[in-house]
Amino acid sequence: MSRTPHEIALLRESADLVARTLAEVGKHIFPGQKTLVLDSIAEEFIRSYDAIPAFKGYRMARLPAFPCTLCISVNDAVVHGFPGSYVLQDGDLVSIDCGVLLNGYYGDSAYTFGVGELSAENIELCTTTYEALLLGIAASSSHNTLGDIGYAIQRHCESKGMGVVRDLVGHGIGSNLHEPPQIPNYGMPNKGDRIQTGMTFCIEPMINLGTHKVFIDRDGWTVRSADGSASAHYEHMVCVHSDGPEILTTFEFIEQHITPPYKQIEIIPYG
Ligand code: MG
Ligand code: MG
Repeated sequence: MSRTPHEIALLRESADLVARTLAEVGKHIFPGQKTLVLDSIAEEFIRSYDAIPAFKGYRMARLPAFPCTLCISVNDAVVHGFPGSYVLQDGDLVSIDCGVLLNGYYGDSAYTFGVGELSAENIELCTTTYEALLLGIAASSSHNTLGDIGYAIQRHCESKGMGVVRDLVGHGIGSNLHEPPQIPNYGMPNKGDRIQTGMTFCIEPMINLGTHKVFIDRDGWTVRSADGSASAHYEHMVCVHSDGPEILTTFEFIEQHITPPYKQIEIIPYG
């Protein structure tokens, strides 16, 4: 589905708010912090802009409504973790996913933070996942297909021996949080629907240090890696223009306050 320039302008505002919310949360990530506190900070920040936390009360088939503003997924948790009484520890990887609804349009972005000092392998995981996101974005042109995006992400992560989670995918975004098309993080070049100018969607690689397989925790929501290996998740909203992709969200605000958990990277775009 192609968006009008007016809709894209509104989505840019929602994307900006979600980027600023993640930055506000990022300021408060340190060893000893309770994840529930991060959730309150995010909710208060979003509501101060007369916006609504998009995940709170969100329903997926057969599941109870999601109770919080943020998904906070620590270490082997891939996505959809609950904020709660867990206290962040030095060396934790904490993936924070945030959604907002502003003026009828959604914003959705995720960032994996490091708590204190990260292990070398967790830095490698963050670096590869972030690189994969940029490669997926670079493949998001109207000359390509959705399969090209997935292929760019999968090829890069699997070449480093990491697992690409398949059970969850990126998605179109607009006046609904999740819209067609689905944007898998795996695929074959030249396969799948052709990418159209004016499309807006979220690209969100979820990458495990070990197996790509996942399971759902007893809480009904938290997705964990099957082998207990660490997982990272970076998500941007993208709009496809005739001259290439525009990234609607940004990590710039976050990285004004923290040092990224990934290494400086050099990307050779796919295609
Ligand atoms: Mg998200
Ligand atoms: Mg998303």
